[in-house]
Amino acid sequence: MELINKSALELHDLLDKKEITSREIVEAYIKRIEALEPKLNSFVTLTLEQALEDADKADEMIKNKTSTTFTGIPIAIKDNMCTYHVKTTCSSKMLQDFKPPYDATVIAKIKKAGMPILGKTNMDEFAMGSSTETSFFGPSKNPWDLERVPGGSSGGSAAAVAAKQAPLALGSDTGGSIRQPAALTGVVGLKPTYGLVSRYGLIAFASSLDQIGPFTRDVADSAALLNMLAGYDPKDTTSLPNKRSDYLQALGKEIRGLRVGLPREFFGEGLDKEVEKAVLKAIDALATEGAQIVEIDLPYSKKALAAYYLIATAEASSNLARLDGVRYGHRSENQKDSVTMFKHSRAEGFGPEVKRRIMLGTYALSAGFYDAYYLKALKVRTLIKNDFDAAFKKVDVIVTPTTPSVAFKFGEKVLDPLAMYLSDVYTTTANLAGIPAMSMPAGLTKEKLPIGVQIIAPALAEEIMLNTAYTLEKAIGTIGLPTLEV
Ligand code: GLN
Repeated sequence: MELINKSALELHDLLDKKEITSREIVEAYIKRIEALEPKLNSFVTLTLEQALEDADKADEMIKNKTSTTFTGIPIAIKDNMCTYHVKTTCSSKMLQDFKPPYDATVIAKIKKAGMPILGKTNMDEFAMGSSTETSFFGPSKNPWDLERVPGGSSGGSAAAVAAKQAPLALGSDTGGSIRQPAALTGVVGLKPTYGLVSRYGLIAFASSLDQIGPFTRDVADSAALLNMLAGYDPKDTTSLPNKRSDYLQALGKEIRGLRVGLPREFFGEGLDKEVEKAVLKAIDALATEGAQIVEIDLPYSKKALAAYYLIATAEASSNLARLDGVRYGHRSENQKDSVTMFKHSRAEGFGPEVKRRIMLGTYALSAGFYDAYYLKALKVRTLIKNDFDAAFKKVDVIVTPTTPSVAFKFGEKVLDPLAMYLSDVYTTTANLAGIPAMSMPAGLTKEKLPIGVQIIAPALAEEIMLNTAYTLEKAIGTIGLPTLEV
């Protein structure tokens, strides 16, 4: 039995029936990680010994009947979520030796459930980027084609799930960082409603946009993992006091009569023909299942990228101010006086993309330009939200491409920030509006590269979104995972 080929829920069944142990699962993944890591660089830090110990504890929990759905199932974590006494680097030189004194809420939940953590995954530095090329530890590779990027910023998590180095992973999504890499690596990635999953212990990039969410190989695993992650947390002031939903229970309902919105603005200039074709085919498949397809307009989505890159950089410039070499993080040797120490610590600790964002954000917030840039961007954000409110009066979900193109080659965009920023053209709207969105595979191009389709739903309508995805997955079938020589 090839354990690494099973979905997390399949593994749960096997554990439940006592046909396998958590230790066997973790050992199988360790073998796979060790074989592939030199090629893929999905991880910044591996915690394999701890994972084995946790697997044994999970096997005890299963024996004692104190286990839950994911007990004994390993997971990989993006390296911007705090893990107690385990390095949390944000793929930055600034935090390369940072060991947090506490666990993020999602990590506490994972530990409580008895899930062994395999390691911390690579990402764009401080989650700024769409390719993992801004990582201080070098990029991760796309398992479908090692010459191509896995997307970003959660590229390591996406690559790990696609390459079967982990059955599950966590990522964070500020403007598309779960959905875009999920699309580029052919896995399922979900960004929940803002406030559904606690951000406590997630190192902030842009606090009003950041959300943690799951990477999985199929929709059912995504729903099950969201069950575990979602919930009110008093430690996060933006956490929603929502009632508990069972996302797994929501799957499999008929979608007859479901109104699916097709926003004209997402199918225009810049969209790769093969991507467009696959997404339209997915929409046809939903129609065959009884959905009603409705063309809609989201006129302000054209301004989303501009608003996003003002708001995200403004918040980042403020959030990253704490990294000054004083309390934690890189401290320069050049300590002539405190101001010199601040300057050099930041100059040495941050990479070029992070510096670019801090400068852009500081500029947008500066006294003379605040009204012209930041305030205006906030107004556009409201208009984008209003667009969605109007659209969701007419439709239940919205379906779009996740990205304008498939995985690109290393170096293709990294020297042209604007080209890189365009990767997020279809994903930032959901963050700005605070609504849930997910990406799932819609097919492969002729070159055998994955194509992602995005499903967007109203706030807290994850159940409808996931059920639409589940229906689609059944209708169009999966694309499988890449074959990698070990
Ligand atoms: N690629 C986008 C950016 O660079 C989104 C990043 C993210 O969602 N963390 O800002």
